[in-house]
Amino acid sequence: MKNIVIVGGGLAGLSAAIHLASEGHQVKVFEKNEHFGGKMKSIDLGSYHFDFGPNTITMPQVFIETIKKAGLNPADYISFKKIEHHTRNVFPDGFVFDLSSSSSFMKEQLKKLDPKGSSRYPEFLKKIESLYTLSHKYFLHRTFESFRDYLSPSLGRALLKVRPNQTMHDFFHTYFENPKTIQALDRYATYIGSNPYVAPATFAMIAYLELVEGVYYVEGGNTKIADAFVQAALHLGVELFGHKMVSRIETSGGEASGVYLESGEFIHADEIIINGDLLKAYPNLVKEEDRPSFTNKRVREYEPSISGFVILAGLDGKMEQLHHHHLFFSNNYKKEFTQLQNGEYPGDPTIYICTSSKSDPTVSPNGDNCFILVNAPATGKDRVPIDPEAYKEVIYKKLERFGLSIREKIQVEKIYTPEDLRVDFGAFRGSIYGPAANKKKDAFLRPFNRSQDIKNVWFAGGSTHPGGGSPMVVLSGQNVARAIHNKHS
Ligand SMILES: Cc1cc2nc3c(=O)[nH]c(=O)nc-3n(C[C@H](O)[C@H](O)[C@H](O)COP(=O)(O)OP(=O)(O)OC[C@H]3O[C@@H](n4cnc5c(N)ncnc54)[C@H](O)[C@@H]3O)c2cc1C
Repeated sequence: MKNIVIVGGGLAGLSAAIHLASEGHQVKVFEKNEHFGGKMKSIDLGSYHFDFGPNTITMPQVFIETIKKAGLNPADYISFKKIEHHTRNVFPDGFVFDLSSSSSFMKEQLKKLDPKGSSRYPEFLKKIESLYTLSHKYFLHRTFESFRDYLSPSLGRALLKVRPNQTMHDFFHTYFENPKTIQALDRYATYIGSNPYVAPATFAMIAYLELVEGVYYVEGGNTKIADAFVQAALHLGVELFGHKMVSRIETSGGEASGVYLESGEFIHADEIIINGDLLKAYPNLVKEEDRPSFTNKRVREYEPSISGFVILAGLDGKMEQLHHHHLFFSNNYKKEFTQLQNGEYPGDPTIYICTSSKSDPTVSPNGDNCFILVNAPATGKDRVPIDPEAYKEVIYKKLERFGLSIREKIQVEKIYTPEDLRVDFGAFRGSIYGPAANKKKDAFLRPFNRSQDIKNVWFAGGSTHPGGGSPMVVLSGQNVARAIHNKHS
């Protein structure tokens, strides 16, 4: 039995805690915020419930298995509901294209819009399935602890097969011809905070998750997943400390002995997992001289993933035309990503609205609960801060052009900027997913799951392997927990 300290109670931290405690280890989780779940955060404004963070849930089995690991019955805590025709895409000319996990529905819809896409749809599904299968086999269920981990020949072969040299956009273009179809699929790059015109085609596997396995919603709100993880951790005897900021990791001779809390209290640890965004937390917690492999210069070289500008808007009554997941695309997607990469807020942003009350009226009985998200640039010293109220107007005006007069119906409203993400969740430059997966190097060589300089410090979460997104970070926590347990067995 080892004493494990986890810095941060996001989904990855909780997942690691559950898996380690289930193997008999003594686990303490220190979270700077009051709530556990990190970016998966429940926000209630009056009678309106919002799921901050993960609104689109895929890979439900990952969450279910984690709760089972604690010996609990997942059905007592969460109930997943599949949304078959899950995402409505609306284009500037008013054209509507729905994404669905029903392949016959997709083929039928594509017949008119994209005849090439319709006839090649089965082939496309096979290809994205093979991308997913390769990722599943070689990347998702393991830690990457050093460069040695990249040297296995089978991994090398797998890396070549996952189309690292083709961009997502070009990959979709080989199967589809209508720019609208391609734009709807290109959006999957934003699920990893990236740009479809540069992100490797490997990430087209996200399309497999949505178009084959399906999009899910948790009754009562997706944040029930975080609540269930908290219950699972407590059930196993994990000690959860909210409102406890870890300020330093004590190291000597390449080994950590524990952590100091902001209060000055020292907590001994045999192993430490950093779940906070590693690009921000690791440099904050460990003196630069003690991490020669991860200098401040190296941290600055990482390109952050894109961030988000979020409006939570509770409406008086319902807007019948809104779907649970609804997108209003920009005229020029490429320009939007170029602006984001240059640190600018797009003048014509693609707007995503999640209104979970469409599937579950209990979460917002008095009207629609619109979680409005547009891609935003990460923060930076050289970047001009946005006037949130003015940018909100850009968004509302655009929605009006699509016939959606949200402004008149607003009962409650709250805005979150990239700066809020930076401060609230300790996110590197306010990015949602840590390092961007734009460059091939950053996509496949994310920061390792283990410190190269301090032998008992580990990393779990969106900025390390296998990557960002709620199911991925849960796998990250699980993989690191397994590696630590194996080290001591
Ligand atoms: C607007 C938005 C929309 C998103 N949409 C989706 C979606 O639709 N689907 C999806 O799957 N994912 C989505 N995501 C991504 C998903 O939320 C994240 O990838 C995932 O929740 C990250 O989990 P994590 O455990 O890696 O990190 P986090 O959730 O960031 O947790 C890390 C925790 O560490 C804490 N911490 C940091 N430093 C310290 C310290 N020194 N001491 C104590 N505590 C510390 C932080 O407070 C935080 O709670 C979205 C995220 C955002 C922000």
